[in-house]
Order: sequence, then structure tokens, then C-alpha cells
Amino acid sequence: MSTKKIQAIRGMNDLLPEQSTLWQYFEGQVRALMQRYGYDEIRTPIVELTALFKRSIGEVTDIVEKEMYTFEDRNGDSLTLRPEGTASCVRAAMEHGLLHNQTQRLWYQGPMFRHERPQKGRYRQFHQIGVETFGLEGPDIDAELILLSARLWKQLGLFEHVTLELNSLGSSDARAAYRERLVAYFDQHFDQLDEDSRRRLSSNPLRILDAKNPAMADMLAGAPRLIDHLDEESRKHFAALTGMLDAAGIEYLINPRLVRGLDYYGRTVFEWTTNALGSQGTVCAGGRYDGLVEQLGGKPTPAVGFAMGIERLILLLETLALVPDAVRGELDLYLLPMDDSATSQALLLGERLRSALPELALQLHCGGGSFKSRIKKADKSGARLALLIGEDELANGTATVKFLRDSRDQLTLAQDELIATLTSLLADASA
Ligand code: ATP
Ligand code: MG
Repeated sequence: MSTKKIQAIRGMNDLLPEQSTLWQYFEGQVRALMQRYGYDEIRTPIVELTALFKRSIGEVTDIVEKEMYTFEDRNGDSLTLRPEGTASCVRAAMEHGLLHNQTQRLWYQGPMFRHERPQKGRYRQFHQIGVETFGLEGPDIDAELILLSARLWKQLGLFEHVTLELNSLGSSDARAAYRERLVAYFDQHFDQLDEDSRRRLSSNPLRILDAKNPAMADMLAGAPRLIDHLDEESRKHFAALTGMLDAAGIEYLINPRLVRGLDYYGRTVFEWTTNALGSQGTVCAGGRYDGLVEQLGGKPTPAVGFAMGIERLILLLETLALVPDAVRGELDLYLLPMDDSATSQALLLGERLRSALPELALQLHCGGGSFKSRIKKADKSGARLALLIGEDELANGTATVKFLRDSRDQLTLAQDELIATLTSLLADASA
């Protein structure tokens, strides 16, 4: 048998305790925000039938062509680890009648899987928080989604560091007509297309606009722009949206080449981008997908949503040193039986204190050891206070409070007084 250590899969990360407090802070901000805007959480399975993603994301997109984790299960069904959340969300909403004569504002969170080349800000298991709304044609709801995300950036201190890019992909008729115009243009400049783009010319020419190859930049800059050829309805929709953003004081950059990598988008598309993360600069992306529900067998239902990449946002908070001190999740109290005879009393006292003081973060010393090693552990725990129980305390019904971070004399208190004293000590600390 091989004794080589088994390691995590490339591009799939462990989240260690030091990091998870920051994630919890971030997730807590999002959860509270969703509640304030009236969005409800939906949780769907991580695995779905492969057909769901092929039919929604599109057969000739990068995701479906080369990034999905697809496998056969023991029944011979083709299953896929979800590469994104929208398709599952639509499937679940249809399956459970959530789209029947009603509107929905939903959000979700969780891991997504794409077999990409791992690098900073790009992983094979990554995490998204997403929002999907159904039954609302907008542009008011489009504006709400942008304002909601803008509020999140403000709360996190990120607003100055991100840019909103906006485009409209028009109706499917407008896109079809534009596609022909675009293919004609690319045919004229065929010699300047790289290999990837040549492959896309027949399958997905709009995606060529998104090519990052600098050698193609000038040629792309001269390409016809969909936003100049929108159908009348989409043009009005877009004008109303930008009007609302102007009124709300949200700046944006109209980027006529913003197309998104999934086939189901039409009309509004947007991205929040940053310069602080190198080439993985998109932290949040979304748009309108009015055709998707019908495409998956439901009634025509307008829909718009977005997803943000948690890893990139966490990286951004760290890069910009925007992690608040309070995020560290420190212990208040280390409860320390001075020797083994006090263990069981300490255990009970710990439970009593936790019942009386729901805000208190108390860790009990477990695992015995010499008095010296116990004190060392108390110190290392990061707690502000240690609470000691030894022979004297057991005999007198007292406990001793030791100040681990301040030069203050220790206090020996009757156990009955403890709750009141700890309450005021903790209040002092948070003041
Ligand atoms: P990119 O152009 O960076 O590949 P995308 O267009 O494929 O992004 P979406 O499918 O729109 O991304 O996903 C929404 C967000 O999820 C992205 O803006 C990004 O923040 C995040 N994201 C996407 N793929 C990854 C990944 N492999 N690793 C980490 N985050 C990702
Ligand atoms: Mg991608």
C-alpha cells in the first residue's frame, strides 16, 4: 500500500479557522442585506442532471464545452457538479410551482465547480452568492439588483474600489440580426482572429468580443456594437435603467463589448470589476434572462439575477486591508479548573454562565496538565479573562477572575456575584 499522503484536489481549497471568521463576516453581511431587501434563500442540490446545464448555459459555451465536472452515477445517469446557480434555481422554482402567478426574489449561496486552470482568484471549487428574481420585467428590478449590490460594497468599504460596467444585449431578434452583422465583420478581418476566435466564429461569435488577446484589440474596437442596433423595447428598457441609476447617483460605464459567457442572457447585463486583483477582476456579474424559463419547458417568465464570487471578494477585502478588527471572533473568557478535582465544577459553572450570558464566548480548559501549562493555554487562547477554580474556590463557593490582557489585580468573587461582575466587565470591554 502506498504511504504517500493524500492531499486536496488541485484548485479546491480548505478554509482554515483563521479565514472562516472573515467568510462568516462577509456571509453575515449578505444574509442581513437580503433580508432587508425582502429576498428569500433557496438551497438546491450540488449535483444535477447534465442536461440541465447543457440546455441552459448553452452547448458551445466554455463552461459546457470544457469546464464541467460530469460523471456517470451507478444508474448510468449523466450527472454534473453545478458550475453555477441559475440553472438549478430555475429548475427548482419550476418544479415546485414557485413561478405560478407570482413573483419571486430568491438568493442562494454555495460551492460551484469548474475545471479551469487554477490561479489567484480562479479555482475549481469556488463559492458564489447569487440572487435570482422571477416574474418582473424591470427595469426597476434591474436597478434594485444593482443598488443592492452597491449597498453591499458600501457596507464592506469596497465601493470606491469597484466599477459598474453595463450593456444591453437586446431582444433575441436583435441579437440574431446583430450576429450576422458581426460575423460579416469578422469574416472581413479573419486573418486577425486568433485560433479560439476562429473556432467561435460559427458557434458563438458574440463571445469573440470578450477575447482578451491584445493583438485583437484594435480590430475588436472597430466591430459593430449591439447597443447601436437595439430593438425599440430594449432601447427603452436600457434608457429607463440608466435613468434610475443616474437618479440614485450610481456611476456606470457602458461597455458595448460586455457579453457574459452564458447563452441565456438578453437585455441588461452588468459586471462589477476591480483593478486590484489582476486579471481576475470581475467580482460580481449578472443580467436578464427572460427566455430561460421557457427554454427549460416553463411558461415565459421574465427573470434577472447576478452572482458574486466570494473568494475574489475576500481577496479584495484582504488586499485592501478592509477586514474589521471585530471580525477576529475573540474569546471573552477561558474557564480554568486549577487541578483535576475542580473539573466537574468548572464544567457546570461554564454551562451556567453560558445560559445566563448568551453573548459570552467562553472556552473551558480540557485535557488536564500542570497548573503552569494550564495558565499558558489560557494566555494562548486569546481570551481577555481567565476564570479560575481551585481547592479554595471549591471550598468557599468562589471563583477568581484573572485579567490576561490588562495589568489589573485579580478578583475573587462569590459564584453568585459572577454573572453581574462579568456582565459589567464585558460591557466595559466592548465600550
Ligand atoms: P470569468 O470571466 O472571471 O471567468 P465568468 O464570466 O466565468 O467569470 P460567472 O459565471 O459570471 O463568471 O460567475 C460569476 C462570478 O463568480 C464571477 O464574476 C467571479 O467573481 C466568480 N467566479 C467565476 N468563476 C470562478 C472561478 N473559477 N473561481 C473563482 N471565482 C469564480
Ligand atoms: Mg469563466
